[in-house]
Amino acid sequence: MPFAEDRSSEAEKGGPVTQKDIVRYLLEHDRSVVTSLFARADRVRSRFVGSGVHLRGLIEFSNYCCQDCLYCGLRRSNRRVKRYRMLYAQIFDVCRQAKALGIKTIVLQSGEDRRYRVRDLCGLVTDIKKLGLAVTLSIGELSYAQYRQLRLAGADRYLLRFETSDPKLYASLRPGRTLAQRLRCLSWLHKLGYETGSGMMTGLPGQTAGSIADDICLFGKLDLDMIGIGPFIPHPHTPLAKARPGSLELVLKAIALTRIMTSDTNIPATTAAGTIDPRGREKALRCGANVLMPNMTPPPYRRLYEIYPDKVCINEGEFSRGAYLARMIRRIGRTISSDYGYRKGDR
Ligand code: SF4
Repeated sequence: MPFAEDRSSEAEKGGPVTQKDIVRYLLEHDRSVVTSLFARADRVRSRFVGSGVHLRGLIEFSNYCCQDCLYCGLRRSNRRVKRYRMLYAQIFDVCRQAKALGIKTIVLQSGEDRRYRVRDLCGLVTDIKKLGLAVTLSIGELSYAQYRQLRLAGADRYLLRFETSDPKLYASLRPGRTLAQRLRCLSWLHKLGYETGSGMMTGLPGQTAGSIADDICLFGKLDLDMIGIGPFIPHPHTPLAKARPGSLELVLKAIALTRIMTSDTNIPATTAAGTIDPRGREKALRCGANVLMPNMTPPPYRRLYEIYPDKVCINEGEFSRGAYLARMIRRIGRTISSDYGYRKGDR
């Protein structure tokens, strides 16, 4: 077998994994081999990013989107979604609450909503930065000039998942968009000095183990700072409503292999992983993940931001009392990180 059983110090280093080995692990059913893979990923996590779990407070500030991705409940063709846009004052108020809870990073996420002017978003970013918070943006594809404006306004990080590195599958799932443009955006973000995040969905219809292995190899090549991996979960009001959902096992294997491949990246235990299994996020933290993203979106909006159905965080209002995720972190013997959690050290 390939590397999982190797407990030598060399094996703790992480580093490149071949595409062929990744495919073998993705297809592996032997429990002892899989357990040993997860244990190795956990050791690599411990060595390179420590025991701290970074909390990134997520604000889903608009569910309008001009794109039409086949897997997404927010796609513009879905007329059954009740759409909302939060006001700047509402967003800023949530940021203040996050700061009071000790959260160090705010993630501003939305569909591709062109109604918000970049100039105004820049003002919001600058105001949030004055609170002493790091700002991550996840608002889709923009021009180089727009990314630059937001970076100059103080945005620290940007998340832009490519979801699949198979150009044909990508084009079929995201009508009118191309993988090449997505990767161009990622290279712009990198060049502008953002901490750059990407990610993928596992279990997509038409996806193969080889294709997921290519995604993981691409993570290694792109020198990403953050990598989010979640299962495909079919949304009932999309063209993929009847497709089979992805499994947690595949997500966990992809997280473990990504940790081993990239060593020191920040990897969230995604809400989607917690949605397909009540202990999904905890399991992800045990096999390579080191970030949690408490949902700070105000409750009236939270249930409307439905990329996939039955999001686990809908009922996690008690986070505002610091309870649920903190308990999860303690239960697995980890700590809540008190720093900003930049990949290359706090700035
Ligand atoms: S995945 Fe993103 S870009 Fe695509 S429809 Fe959903 S919100 Fe819009």
